[in-house]
Amino acid sequence: MEIQYIKGVGPKLSKYLNLLGIYTVKDAIYYFPRDYEDRNNIKPVYDMVDGEMVSIIAEVSLIYPSKKTSTGKYLNRIIFKNSSGYIVGVWFNQPYIKNTFKVGERVLLYGKVSKRMGEVQLIEPQYEKNPGEAVGGINPIYPINKYVSQKVIRKIIYQSLLNVEKEVSEFLPENLRKIYNIPDIVTALKNVHFPADKFVLKLSIDRIKFEELLVLQLGLIMAKNQLSVKENAYPIPVCKEMKEFKDALPFNLTGAQSKCIREILTDMKKTKPMNRLVQGDVGSGKTIVAIIAMFNCAMNGFQSAMMAPTEILAEQHYHSITGLLNRWGITAALLTGSMTKREKDEVLKRIASGEIDIVVGTHALIQENVEFKKLALVITDEQHRFGVRQRAELISKGHNPHVLVMTATPIPRTLALFMYGDMDISIINELPPGRQKVDTYFIRPAMKNRAYDFVKTEIEKGRQAYVVCSLVEESEKLEAESAVETAEFLSKNYFKDYNVGLLHGKMNPKEKDEVMNKFKNGEIHVLVSTTVVEVGVNVPNATVMVIENADRFGLAQLHQLRGRVGRGQYKSYCILIAEAKTNEAVQRMDIMTKTNDGFVIAEKDMELRGTGEFFGTKQHGLPELKMADLVRDIEIVKKTRDIARELVETGKIFESEYELLRREVNNKFGDSFDYTMFN
Ligand code: ADP
Ligand code: MG
Repeated sequence: MEIQYIKGVGPKLSKYLNLLGIYTVKDAIYYFPRDYEDRNNIKPVYDMVDGEMVSIIAEVSLIYPSKKTSTGKYLNRIIFKNSSGYIVGVWFNQPYIKNTFKVGERVLLYGKVSKRMGEVQLIEPQYEKNPGEAVGGINPIYPINKYVSQKVIRKIIYQSLLNVEKEVSEFLPENLRKIYNIPDIVTALKNVHFPADKFVLKLSIDRIKFEELLVLQLGLIMAKNQLSVKENAYPIPVCKEMKEFKDALPFNLTGAQSKCIREILTDMKKTKPMNRLVQGDVGSGKTIVAIIAMFNCAMNGFQSAMMAPTEILAEQHYHSITGLLNRWGITAALLTGSMTKREKDEVLKRIASGEIDIVVGTHALIQENVEFKKLALVITDEQHRFGVRQRAELISKGHNPHVLVMTATPIPRTLALFMYGDMDISIINELPPGRQKVDTYFIRPAMKNRAYDFVKTEIEKGRQAYVVCSLVEESEKLEAESAVETAEFLSKNYFKDYNVGLLHGKMNPKEKDEVMNKFKNGEIHVLVSTTVVEVGVNVPNATVMVIENADRFGLAQLHQLRGRVGRGQYKSYCILIAEAKTNEAVQRMDIMTKTNDGFVIAEKDMELRGTGEFFGTKQHGLPELKMADLVRDIEIVKKTRDIARELVETGKIFESEYELLRREVNNKFGDSFDYTMFN
């Protein structure tokens, strides 16, 4: 049922609700509180502690007239009293507040305690007039926008819940609910929003987490089972040219790279298909590891395919591969969405005939009708940009091929195990020698010109720079437009004596290519870009990364962007330009200036914002988790994982009792399997 059928929702409000992602009554029912206020915490004034949230019932005792502060704000103070003492309500810039109260009136106040100069204050407390004796209860606090207030969203959700029986049906079988003490779905949904008490609230939240995680686990396990791991991959021995190949590389492999390569080559010798995740921070040198695996495969007469999330990256890999492998008589080809049909058909024919040993491509690799002659190795680079389904589709092109997955996203081991099923994991925990820390600075927009002066001095030294733009909040402009404007501005001002290039996702691939090549050749000094340069791009001569509106990015993304510099012998710098209006934003910028370690950044990010940013399921092409958190709820993760495994292994999942659960899994995964993050 559409949300506008709810009482009180007109066209306007329904538009505002859409902005919150609420289109239907069911969406509203699944729009969960971000927090709760416990109005049962009623204390005498003398027991109140600074910083805590409290409720108090008191009488209006004195209303002061509005006062203007030195900073030009209106300050309003109202004194309330009850038998335990006096408490002062403080409001800023809400002069009308003084007219909403009358002396002698009884009110319930709820807010944060601030103890200042001998006073107990509540800062901008919520209030309810003439409350009954049995006040309080636990109230939901929803994420809102400036068009929809707490009051309104509460009402909408309350109304929506009146239809809950029509909108949702129980899909967890009764026996499961009995064993694990799980409330039914209607009880759970009602209590998640408007809890009867703390105990039921906890049970209800846990139920929602349980169902989300169980569905996720079942989907993952069932997807994996489709890729039946049979013992009939092509066994690929280490070719006799391997040593010569390694010796001819322009650098010595790091210890971590060598170890990882050993693990891969050992896997490939077996008839059991390799299933390995290579995890290494940006710049740790994952590409060469992949190239060596493909080299070995080709020298044994087999084909390999490598999938990258952007055309720029696919091309770059293609060039690295041909550069290193051509002289061994190995033929590589590129397959991307932007090639003409004729070009594609030509490549497809040569892949099918087996003439091409290595194919590098974007998702075109799975979209086009690619038929391989003898595909034995499948690699996905920057796996976090692909969905589970896409990896599975590429794998299905081969006959139980060996699988290698590469990612720069640091994932704690427990989570990696969960995300990637039973993959083996190699970690490249060492950067090539000579790499220096990328010095990172956080500056305010007012200091911008100093940043650009600095860029100039680097260009004078022969280096190059990136300037990454993003949107300023609530701007209607396309990201691309903002890059176009910045490029224009910079080329007319700071960098009028240099070449400024422009790169964004809306350009056609030929143009992108040209620009990228010019940047690589050093013809472009400053590359103004959107986040399309985020993954994988490798131009070792670039030493400065300027990120405008840096507070608009997550830490993971900033870390990836910063990884574009510091890839060669030169000292490199990252300059974050941001207003950073909130405390959290400042903290995030500070973290970036303090460490270059992806794992540390991941941890800090989790502390600040939960797992969403780094380990969010959406990032991995999985259904979104609205309530559960893969780190905080690790116990439920484990429990549901065991349950899902048992259901699948025993075949119980196919019994009629589980039909609705199966359907739920299909629904959830059906949507998200197609979820991609291509620029
Ligand atoms: P990532 O792990 O981010 O994919 P790349 O594979 O793109 O990193 O490697 C980053 C840069 O480091 C490339 O220029 C690559 O040639 C270089 N490189 C890789 N391994 C080594 C090594 N062992 N010694 C020196 N440079 C290396
Ligand atoms: Mg890479």
